[in-house]
Amino acid sequence: MNAHGPIVAVYPGSFDPVTLGHEDVVRRTLRFSDRLVVAVAESATQPKGHLFPVAERLEIMREVFAGEPRVECVAFSGLLVDFARTLGARFIIRGLRAVSDFDYEFQMAQMNRELWEEVETLFLTPDVHYSFLSASLVREVASLGGDVGSFVSPVVLDRLRRRYS
Ligand code: ADP
Repeated sequence: MNAHGPIVAVYPGSFDPVTLGHEDVVRRTLRFSDRLVVAVAESATQPKGHLFPVAERLEIMREVFAGEPRVECVAFSGLLVDFARTLGARFIIRGLRAVSDFDYEFQMAQMNRELWEEVETLFLTPDVHYSFLSASLVREVASLGGDVGSFVSPVVLDRLRRRYS
């Protein structure tokens, strides 16, 4: 909370599925925000296609964050800045893993600022154990029968097992 009211942040992504890297970013964001909206982009372009439909991703995320009342998981379509504005969220959270993330993230942050001058994009780095982790890698390893138990929560692991059994 500050003089302007609660600090609301939005963390957008595909979360297909939510990984321990995403969870780490969420935990870090809760250190400085009052409310965090984790937002699944319905229109996100995924060159490799999706694994779980958006509704199932949300179901999984709601289970994963069930113990944290300040986290809300929702889907959105259209421009992120418009969605953020309707939430009263001036902070967009993004995770930065390696330099390979930087180019795209930098462009997006600058574009979003052009679209809404008051929005700030905040980049958080995860715990070093998750710095190589991506949802697409989890999908790939799980689809080939590999053990992803140290990269996702038990809830997610269970869904992946059912999907690939
Ligand atoms: P990905 O398929 O790359 O995991 P998402 O679209 O679900 O992608 O990611 C949403 C946001 O979370 C992005 O800002 C991404 O950089 C960040 N993110 C994803 N995985 C991690 C991780 N292991 N550590 C930190 N940030 C991450």
